[in-house]
Amino acid sequence: MKLRLALLALAASIASSAALANEHEIAALMRLGSEASLSVGGPLDGRLERSVAIPDKGPGFERPSARRPEARFGTVEMVRGLVRAARAVHERYPGGTLIVHDLSLEGGGPIARHESHQAGRDVDVLYYLLDTEGRPTRSVGAILGPDGRGVDFRNLQDPSDDFHVALDVPRTWAFLEALALDPEAGLQRVFLAEHLRTLLFRHAAREGRPEAVAKLAEMTCQPSTPHDDHMHLRFFCSPDDVRAGCEDTHPIYPWRRAALRKFGLEPKLHRPRPDRPRAKTVSAEEARAAAGPLHADVEAWLEMRKSWMKPPRTGRKYCP
Ligand SMILES: [Zn+2]
Repeated sequence: MKLRLALLALAASIASSAALANEHEIAALMRLGSEASLSVGGPLDGRLERSVAIPDKGPGFERPSARRPEARFGTVEMVRGLVRAARAVHERYPGGTLIVHDLSLEGGGPIARHESHQAGRDVDVLYYLLDTEGRPTRSVGAILGPDGRGVDFRNLQDPSDDFHVALDVPRTWAFLEALALDPEAGLQRVFLAEHLRTLLFRHAAREGRPEAVAKLAEMTCQPSTPHDDHMHLRFFCSPDDVRAGCEDTHPIYPWRRAALRKFGLEPKLHRPRPDRPRAKTVSAEEARAAAGPLHADVEAWLEMRKSWMKPPRTGRKYCP
């Protein structure tokens, strides 16, 4: 019994020293100057001359260690923005955790399974999720349908382990709002499925968040791939980066031009070279073939998904 208590105390002290290490890492990250990173070129053919790694864990976020450790680098502005926004959600609605997936490689450049993510200014994050009782549950890359519901299928051959989830609208909105209103982060674009965008804006209208709505209305759109299981966020070049040849993708908003003008700068528009080196990406068909046999509900979801892969019916267009 004594041994068990001693082991429990040891486990608790290891956990708290890990938390302390994360705290120190985050404090150090917050103290860095903007020269800690340098993004050159654009998201489709750029690189990182200097970069920072996102910590594994912090208040309200986690980057799972099993998730490609080489893909945890970005600009200091983006990484700090993610950490601050996750903390803001954690303070406003305790209990949820932002799960961060791929950023860029340490030096940027082509990265397997992504077209972009080359210049340290792109990141994939999962949607905050709820269980069927409305409690926060660990985010997974479940496909979310028009009502925001989805299924974590786990074993794709076995229907008995399916776990039902739903988009956590308030937390997901709060995260995007915090990022969009963070001047240092420089959020440019949020790629997400049109139907999830609709749910988020309906919530924001009820909550009365005009400043964030105005910004995010321009920033959010569905690209040709659906983004119904994660969001892809893109960030602007920092003023230092612009000076060193960093290139932004379209669109450049009027407020962005005005912000750069204060530094005596004009944005450079990214025109990816047609002969740029590309990493291997996996098409939906290849992924489907690799998955092997699937149980009937998984097949039904993949079929349903096709309906929102077509251009959104609201008259809005795909992201350019
Ligand atoms: Zn992405």
